[in-house]
Amino acid sequence: MPEPLQAPSRPAGRELRDAQGRTISYLRLSITDRCNYRCVYCSPAKAPRADLDRAQIRRLLGAFAALGVRRVRLTGGEPLWRADVVAIAADAAALPGVDEVCVTTNGTNLAPLARPLRAAGVRKINVSLDSLDPGRFAAITQGGRVEEVVAGIEAALSAGIPEVAVNAVVLRGVNEGDAAPLVRWCWERGVTPRFIELMPFAGGVPVPTREVQARLAADGVRLWRDAEAPRDHGPAGYREGDGGRVGFIGALTENFCSTCNRLRVSTRGELQACLGGSERVPLAHLLEDGVPASWLEHEIRSALARKEDGHRFLEPKVSGRLLSMMGIGG
Ligand code: SF4
Repeated sequence: MPEPLQAPSRPAGRELRDAQGRTISYLRLSITDRCNYRCVYCSPAKAPRADLDRAQIRRLLGAFAALGVRRVRLTGGEPLWRADVVAIAADAAALPGVDEVCVTTNGTNLAPLARPLRAAGVRKINVSLDSLDPGRFAAITQGGRVEEVVAGIEAALSAGIPEVAVNAVVLRGVNEGDAAPLVRWCWERGVTPRFIELMPFAGGVPVPTREVQARLAADGVRLWRDAEAPRDHGPAGYREGDGGRVGFIGALTENFCSTCNRLRVSTRGELQACLGGSERVPLAHLLEDGVPASWLEHEIRSALARKEDGHRFLEPKVSGRLLSMMGIGG
């Protein structure tokens, strides 16, 4: 049994800040670039590559916790198909200073893992579900079975995961009409539906947040005021409605970069300060035994010192410059 994790004490003022002075307290960590789905708007990795092993991930998590990271989200590829995902979640939850461990998943292996993840300390699970219609779901995921994902969500609810949310990407001409039924389905179960504007990483045509809200209203889902966003939240803005709230992540039309609080590490241990950025800084060589923690801290701080003020998703030909979404977990 590995030694319990020690995060070196965090002297005041040591937290991470980027070049814009934004405090970075949220790590999105991809633990695999393998996935059993091939969603049309995601760019699957050509050849899955070696993931960091658990010891390297423990060292990475410990370093970030010592630098003020309070929230860790495990992503992929599809993180729940990695055999030691529950142990990695427990490692993150055991770290002093980390007060929230979350997972983003396609839900296909959630049913058997919901209870172990809850026991490991996972507080929030976001499940990707773009449509409840089996045909459209299969088309978007290129072969997925929606009932598997529904079973995963219901298992997460019955396991007592405090916050279960659904992430839906709305694609023009594909699933706009599925938004309202999805909201009702979620509200009936106490799940928070969230609509994400498509980012230019691969196929599909985005539908602006305002249009999704208009379509929801046209289909009878009344959202009548902005809702409080959770503390230390990610990029979503929330609106209150009759049956609960709905989240909207409008990266293109409702830019939120000014309040960015996050950075990402790929499954190969590359730090990507901005999702829309074109730089990945290798860290894996600094996660070996005997490498002073200060070297890793130096690389992290210098990457953040180069972080731009925001993405350039709306610039022409930007998709050619973007790094694959796979292995960085969105
Ligand atoms: S695009 Fe970059 S700067 Fe903007 S919110 Fe995302 S990570 Fe932060």
